[in-house]
Amino acid sequence: MLKRKSSLKIINKVSTFKNLIKKLHNKKNRKPIILIPTMGALHQGHLSLIEKGKKIGGYTIASIFINPIQFNDKNDLKNYPITLQDDIDKLNGLKVDYLFIPKIEDIFGKNFQTTVTVNDLQKNLCGMHRPGHFNGVTTIVIKLFNIVKPDIAIFGKKDLQQLIIIKRMVKDLNLDIKIIGGKTIRERSGLALSSRNKLLTKTNYHKASKIYLGLKMTKNQFLSGKNKSINLKNNLIKFFKSEGLSNIEYVQIVNQEKLEENAIVKKGDVIAVALKLGKIRLIDNLKL
Ligand code: AMP
Repeated sequence: MLKRKSSLKIINKVSTFKNLIKKLHNKKNRKPIILIPTMGALHQGHLSLIEKGKKIGGYTIASIFINPIQFNDKNDLKNYPITLQDDIDKLNGLKVDYLFIPKIEDIFGKNFQTTVTVNDLQKNLCGMHRPGHFNGVTTIVIKLFNIVKPDIAIFGKKDLQQLIIIKRMVKDLNLDIKIIGGKTIRERSGLALSSRNKLLTKTNYHKASKIYLGLKMTKNQFLSGKNKSINLKNNLIKFFKSEGLSNIEYVQIVNQEKLEENAIVKKGDVIAVALKLGKIRLIDNLKL
C-alpha cells in the first residue's frame, strides 16, 4: 500500500484490496462502501460521480483499470489516454478514500475463461456495433464487485446501455448492490465529456459539439408533437450530415426498459447516437 501525503490510499494488489475490504466490513457501525469504476483519464464527468458518492457518505473507492476485454478495437485500446498522476491529484483533491489500480495480470490471470453475459439488452445500440464489448464490461464489473464488495456503485448515464445492463446483471444475479446513475456532464458547448475527446483534432472537436445540438433538436421536435421514430431519426441523420458528422454508426430511439425501438416514440424514451470523427468514436444520448 502506497501512502501519499494526502489521505488517498492507492492499492494495486487484488489480495491487499480484499484484505482491506474485509477489515472495513468487520468494523462496527461501518459506513457504506461506495465504488466508482473508471478507466482513468479522469474528467469532470468522472469527478461528478465521485462527488455524488461523497455526498452519500461512506468510504469512497475509485478504481482505474483500462479493461482490455471490453475493447473490440485494438487501436482504440492502444490509443486510450493515460494520465495517472493527474488522476491521482484529482482524486486527492476530492478526498477519495481509496484508489484501486490493479494490474492486468492480477485481474486476468493465465487461462482466464469465465465471462458474464446479459443477453437481450445488448442487441441494440453499442452492443450491436461492438461485438463482445458488453461481455467485457459485465465481466470486469462483476470482478470489481467481488473484490470491492460495495454497497453502492455509481455509473454515468452517458453510457446508458452500460448502466442499464449493469442494473440488470445485479438483479439477475441477486447482488446486494445499489446501482446509482449520474447525469451526463457536458462542456459549455454541450459536448459530453469523454476521455476520448482529448484525441480529437481541433476541427473535429468543434464538429463534435453539434452532436448534443442534434439531440436537443430531436427532443424539441418530439415535444412539439412529432412522435414517429423513423422521421425523428431521419431528421437527426440529415442534421448530422449537414454538420459534417457523416460517419454515423447508429441513431436509435429506444425505450429504457428493454432498449428496444418502437414505431411511435413515448415520453421517457431515449435518443442515442454513436458516430466517428476521424478514428475517434463518440456516443451520447438524451431522454425525450
Ligand atoms: P470510463 O472511464 O469512460 O469507463 O467511465 C467511467 C464512468 O464515468 C462510467 O460510469 C461513465 O458512464 C462515466 N462517465 C463518463 N463520461 C461521463 C460524463 N460526461 N458525465 C458523467 N459520467 C460520465
